[in-house]
Amino acid sequence: MNNIVAIVGRPNVGKSTFFNRLIQRREAIVDSVSGVTRDRNYGKSEWNGKEFSVIDTGGYIKGSDDIFEGEIRRQVELAIDEADVIIFVVDVEDGITPMDEEVAKLLRKVTKPVLLAVNKVDNAMRVDDAIEFYNLGLGEYYTIAGMSGSGTGELLDALTDLLPEPEEADEEEALPRFAVVGRPNAGKSSFINALIGEDRYIVTDIAGTTRDAIDTKYNRFGFEFNLVDTAGIRRKAKVKEDLEFYSVMRSVRAIEHSDICILMIDATRGFEGQDQSIFWLAEKNRKGVVILVNKWDLIEKDTMSTRDYEKKIREELQPFNDVPILFVSALTKQRLLKALETSVQVFENRKQRVATSKLNELMLPIIENNPPPALKGKYIKIKYCMQLPTATPQFVFFCNLPQYVKEPYRRFIENKLREHYDFSGVPIDIYFRQK
Ligand code: GDP
Ligand code: GDP
Repeated sequence: MNNIVAIVGRPNVGKSTFFNRLIQRREAIVDSVSGVTRDRNYGKSEWNGKEFSVIDTGGYIKGSDDIFEGEIRRQVELAIDEADVIIFVVDVEDGITPMDEEVAKLLRKVTKPVLLAVNKVDNAMRVDDAIEFYNLGLGEYYTIAGMSGSGTGELLDALTDLLPEPEEADEEEALPRFAVVGRPNAGKSSFINALIGEDRYIVTDIAGTTRDAIDTKYNRFGFEFNLVDTAGIRRKAKVKEDLEFYSVMRSVRAIEHSDICILMIDATRGFEGQDQSIFWLAEKNRKGVVILVNKWDLIEKDTMSTRDYEKKIREELQPFNDVPILFVSALTKQRLLKALETSVQVFENRKQRVATSKLNELMLPIIENNPPPALKGKYIKIKYCMQLPTATPQFVFFCNLPQYVKEPYRRFIENKLREHYDFSGVPIDIYFRQK
């Protein structure tokens, strides 16, 4: 699924409060598992059985009342470009402000669906106050209170009505889909050109399942794969891209549409905040990841060895650092074949299914020797385990007291799995369930 919902509006109307409510449940799971809370502006949500990504565009624009009008305009334009549905939040306490009118003016021209959410409708009296928002010319609105959650159900019903029915997972889709992502100037286009050549070994041009993500099929060096291109990527440099937000948001659709993210970083700049955000986005979407440290030709080898460089990056990747890191040059074409080979390998790793009998043979003795620590005098007994038949690796361990199994033990199990099976570049989910 690849639906992107953007929340727009001026500062302080309650966008992030509403956003947090939307992603709450999923977020709680992800964060308790990984122990990281890196980016609070992007999350996954689900309603009526439909999954979607939510972007709180306002979270990227640190602002107060003196926020630049140009900034909010760009925020909205980007949402218009990148999102499938836009939720425009306004504040019933303030009524319509000039900036609301500006935003509405932009949104009225859009063909994508826009849902107007009048926030802070905490009580019945304020329901009447909301009527003035008809004047924004966006039609029907939804009265909500992001803080308490009241009214959000109706809004989400309307939202999910607008989203397409979930597609059946196309498991037999044999070809890996690669997305080449990274900050501007990391060398993505150079890499792609070096890989597929100017003459472009295009086999066929097939439209992707999503409106504006296009897969193009290639056959190079004996590998068949699809490269994900998106409208967002092609429309490169339409806005100034030095802001982290824009390049990260641009990557969202490509990442979600891919199986494997080839994250290019610029060796002369190191692994930066933006790289981290993109990496985290890929991990959160449970995509395979390969990191290419590009422009390696520019690095003086005696000042910085690959080993030191790699170590530094791995520290930044914690806790998910079982990821291939290659040092390449799109310019001199150094190790590009290796990069492709590794990406295909990660794709295989991600598809890997471990037979239940083999898994238990391996894991039960390990668990027996290192059981989860007893909690409050209670012993946790893990009886058996299996890999779920899911698109990305998920393992479930059945035990008597799943709620007592803590994060360090989950990590221990994950490390053991990674030691014995090649899940390099692949995020793994591990669950403990009652049995
Ligand atoms: P953002 O800048 O648009 O992301 O706004 P925030 O989510 O940070 O909220 C701005 C302020 O509005 C905060 O003080 C929130 O507590 C408050 N707020 C958010 N939702 C509601 C609501 O439903 N009712 C009321 N009364 N206040 C709210
Ligand atoms: P993109 O914005 O990520 O697509 O980056 P480009 O492919 O446009 O590359 C940005 C700049 O870096 C261009 O001037 C490239 O010539 C240069 N570049 C890309 N890869 C390499 C490399 O491996 N070595 C060197 N020295 N320059 C590179």
